[in-house]
Amino acid sequence: MPTIALAGNPNCGKTTLFNALTGSNQFTGNWPGVTVEKKEGRLLGNRGTVLLDLPGVYSLSPFSPEERITREALLRQRPDAILNLVDGSNLERNLYLTTQLLELQIPVLVAVNFLDVVLARGDVLDLHALAKELGCPVVAVSALKGDRVAALAAALPGLASQPAAVPWCRFPAPAEAALNAIEASLPASIQLRRFYAIKIFEGDPLLLKEVPDKAQKPAAEGDSIIAGGRYDQIGRLCAQCVRYGRRKLPGAWLDSVLLNRWLALPLFALLMFLVYYISVSTLGAWLSEAIGEGVFGGGISAFGYYIPGIPGLLEGLLLRWHVSAWMQSILLEGLLGGVGTLLGFVPQMVLLFFCLAFLEGCGYLSRIAFVLDRLFRRFGLSGRSFLPMLLATGCGVPGILAARTIENERERRLSIITCTFLPCSAKLPLIALIAGALFGGAWWIAPSAYLCGLTAILLSAALLGRLKIFPGGEAPFVLELPPYRLPSPANLLRSVRERTASFLKKAGTVILLSALLVWFLSNVKWEDGGLHAARGLSEGLLAALGRWVAPLFAPLGFGNWQAAVATFTGWIAKENVVSTLGILYGFGGGDGAPRQHLGSAFTPLAGYSFLLFNLLCSPCVAAVSAIQREMGSRRWTLLALAWQTGFAYLAALAVYQAGRALGG
Ligand code: GDP
Ligand code: MG
Repeated sequence: MPTIALAGNPNCGKTTLFNALTGSNQFTGNWPGVTVEKKEGRLLGNRGTVLLDLPGVYSLSPFSPEERITREALLRQRPDAILNLVDGSNLERNLYLTTQLLELQIPVLVAVNFLDVVLARGDVLDLHALAKELGCPVVAVSALKGDRVAALAAALPGLASQPAAVPWCRFPAPAEAALNAIEASLPASIQLRRFYAIKIFEGDPLLLKEVPDKAQKPAAEGDSIIAGGRYDQIGRLCAQCVRYGRRKLPGAWLDSVLLNRWLALPLFALLMFLVYYISVSTLGAWLSEAIGEGVFGGGISAFGYYIPGIPGLLEGLLLRWHVSAWMQSILLEGLLGGVGTLLGFVPQMVLLFFCLAFLEGCGYLSRIAFVLDRLFRRFGLSGRSFLPMLLATGCGVPGILAARTIENERERRLSIITCTFLPCSAKLPLIALIAGALFGGAWWIAPSAYLCGLTAILLSAALLGRLKIFPGGEAPFVLELPPYRLPSPANLLRSVRERTASFLKKAGTVILLSALLVWFLSNVKWEDGGLHAARGLSEGLLAALGRWVAPLFAPLGFGNWQAAVATFTGWIAKENVVSTLGILYGFGGGDGAPRQHLGSAFTPLAGYSFLLFNLLCSPCVAAVSAIQREMGSRRWTLLALAWQTGFAYLAALAVYQAGRALGG
């Protein structure tokens, strides 16, 4: 089965094209470094052809792990052909990789992407001349708009049987002579002779292992001779084939405001505040209230009619059908109180997903890495750590994985330990619950959760970074700024839909099972060496267990057994905190008023302390196992967990005690 590798610079639209060509739904982002693992898909309309989506690279001299993945895939796996996607609005830089791909002796097809942008700018590309010069077919597409993608798809199955590309770059005479000499001294087993000769000339450390010593003749400044030679020829090629239009891209002026030295940070704070204000505090809260109250609560009355909510309906049905009392209890208290409570928060989640996807898609969030770089450096991090944090606001696991893109070991470990301090979407229902039930929907609770997370990150980095075990050193931070783009509705919807779907899936599996377990364990008691039905929740097994640990949390203000149990179930999945509270405080009852139930157990101050502890303490098991995988050591994992939980404890303690001293 022919395999075609999709290779190109970061952020040139590979994943968008991959999705269009294979009909799959990989995550795209207006951000370099989104794809860190290779993905495989079958071509739509020709299932016999396999397409490989590779992480984006600027060259075949790999510096970071995901660049290594791409090079390994191209060199070792030897795809049958390469589809080289280049960003047409950035042709000179993108062709640098192309010149290297042409040296791999595999058929190459160059697809110039961003045709829509090229046209909007009024640039003119001479594709025929480009193809003739490079010696390989060249087409133009717009992966996003779908322009000419069908024609490209039709050309792909036959690509593998096309003649292999030939090296295009010629270097100055002395360098060519040296390259020829190296080529002649290579053992016969090496096939990519020109490619290897150049790599040896450059002194590329990763490939030197594979060639015998006598063939190794790295030249002084070999790498800059080669790079300079490539850029010279690309420059000449572009002068011949590209005519740049004068039109400026819309949004180019935005950077002068959004990246302004003084305005950038306040604007970022304002935007993040708005995101949480809209999605959690105001619009989201109204929607959730309507749904939480109307569907999962007491129902709605409109135009003189009364429509009961699910609890009321269910209760009525259960009574009519004479369903046994314990079955009623499972359905009403376990299922509705647990999972139902959680589902009431879906509107807020959807809104948050939408806002974040929008900011991401239009190219703003990646700029924040630059804005925060200066601030982060004072705390021993850099703008690079922002990508893991950004992803962690969705879910900690991809956030932790994204830390791989950080070359600096110290920063990588710090990012893994701290990125889950930012509230992930699973913690959102808890934030919304506390804000709604204990603070009358106060606008500042949700943004403050984000701010607390950010503060925790900076403090931790500053404190932890002093430990000797963290290697020192700073790495320069270079990141390409993507252009501002209006995010496409399709991409926005895809992002929101996938995140929502994965939440719903979790609600129907892990959280449902946890809720049933919590219901069961809180309704039985241990007596005379056996399990018996408990007469009330406070007599149950969970209550006993919770009471045993609760004193630990008493100094933080929430020393009740329900809070202790909820915190522990949160370790399985953070959504469980809310569903467990729902079961233990009986939110599932027909009156649907978490406010009263929670308000009698927590003072607002204690509630905030509880929120803070659960936001900052050790993340869920899935994230912990990601930490273990990325750290590759149990000791580092334990350090991370101990730090996170210890930090959470002290933070909650400080807030609660200070709050009490100030009069609650
Ligand atoms: P990758 O890093 O190469 O996988 O790039 P992605 O597929 O994640 O795309 C990067 C960004 O470019 C996303 O915001 C896409 O919506 C956008 N994009 C991709 N192709 C096009 C295109 O042809 N035109 C425009 N205007 N935007 C595009
Ligand atoms: Mg990608």
